[in-house]
Amino acid sequence: MVKETKFYDILGVKPGCNPDDLKKAYRKLALKYHPDKNPNEGEKFKQISQAYEVLSDPEKKRIYDQGGEQALKEGGVGASSFSSPMDLFDMFFGGGFGGGRAHRRERRGKDVVHQMSVSLEEVYKGAVRKLALQKNVICDKCEGRGGKKGAMEQCLTCRGTGMQVQIQQLGPGMIQQIQTVCADCRGQGERINPKDRCKQCQGRKVVRDRKILEVHVDKGMVDGQKIVFGGEGDQEPDLEPGDIIIVLDEKEHPVFRRSGNDLILRQEIQLVEALCGFQKVIRTLDDRDLVITAIPGEVTKHGDVKCILNEGMPQYKNPYEKGRLIIQFVVVFPSNLPPENIPMLENCLPARPEIMIPDDAEECTLLPFDVEQEHRRRQQKNIYDEDGDMGPGQRVQCATN
Ligand SMILES: [Zn+2]
Ligand SMILES: [Zn+2]
Repeated sequence: MVKETKFYDILGVKPGCNPDDLKKAYRKLALKYHPDKNPNEGEKFKQISQAYEVLSDPEKKRIYDQGGEQALKEGGVGASSFSSPMDLFDMFFGGGFGGGRAHRRERRGKDVVHQMSVSLEEVYKGAVRKLALQKNVICDKCEGRGGKKGAMEQCLTCRGTGMQVQIQQLGPGMIQQIQTVCADCRGQGERINPKDRCKQCQGRKVVRDRKILEVHVDKGMVDGQKIVFGGEGDQEPDLEPGDIIIVLDEKEHPVFRRSGNDLILRQEIQLVEALCGFQKVIRTLDDRDLVITAIPGEVTKHGDVKCILNEGMPQYKNPYEKGRLIIQFVVVFPSNLPPENIPMLENCLPARPEIMIPDDAEECTLLPFDVEQEHRRRQQKNIYDEDGDMGPGQRVQCATN
């Protein structure tokens, strides 16, 4: 049991989920609430980031599970110790090159990350998808100058430094200097006289343009895999454009579940098929039909698992090698039988074991039992028990607060 579930709830996962589920949940939400896409959801983006930062770190997770957010704060993991949500995002999506690159090449625009949904069929067969997106490109009319040649003049507000210094009085004899980016020239240190501004870009030096990307989804690609379009990010004068990074989001399939390179299929069979043999046709993800057979005399039990080699997912970069198709059999029992048929049935099946009933045995009634409901009730009871563990003194304290 964990003390509180707030961070789990923010990410929409259950306590005890595995690191992959956690990563997946963070990836989906971070992309959805990234300020580029959802400028008004900055707070939500921050919460997602902090929840992931705690739950993905075994030590912080342990503290949180045991004592909740309060214990984190007491352990020095307060609001100030979290990474910036943007840094975490860049680290997560940029992988190995994220942090290092910023130092190597200062003047580089930021990467743009997009999520793209793909079906299991698409990663099985491979696909080419066209993705339309908006990006900034250097204005061709003024060649990125923002106006006529020589129309640039020093910004008067910041005297060309691009920064403004504000002085705040905090108390008697205490002042604080805050440096901010100059609002008038947006940190450029220079500006264009309004009458000389380029008409096409209004002096912004860049214009929005629609760009169609051809995304090649290769056979065997996996959920979360990145496809990088180098230098296709937003253009800005004197800045090397960042990359466009497409992150694949594999949709769930109604029939097959993927586990690495294996595919898992739940195959229902009737009781008669389980006992007397069967043939079934399985439609593959590339629309071929596979026939599977259990010969008469071969009994398939509920929960039996079989596999077909080389009918799973193709290996990435080596698509002729495929994983396994794993078939889990689910036997469908009839809900009742005509009583007159039972002697015939008994005749065919192995004999019943003989039962000795002692004279003083007690007759009992079997009632239905709802496992799901029982599970829910037990969880609620646990929460109640935790309250009950509190000493009497604490209980009084709660009441007076
Ligand atoms: Zn222009
Ligand atoms: Zn300025």
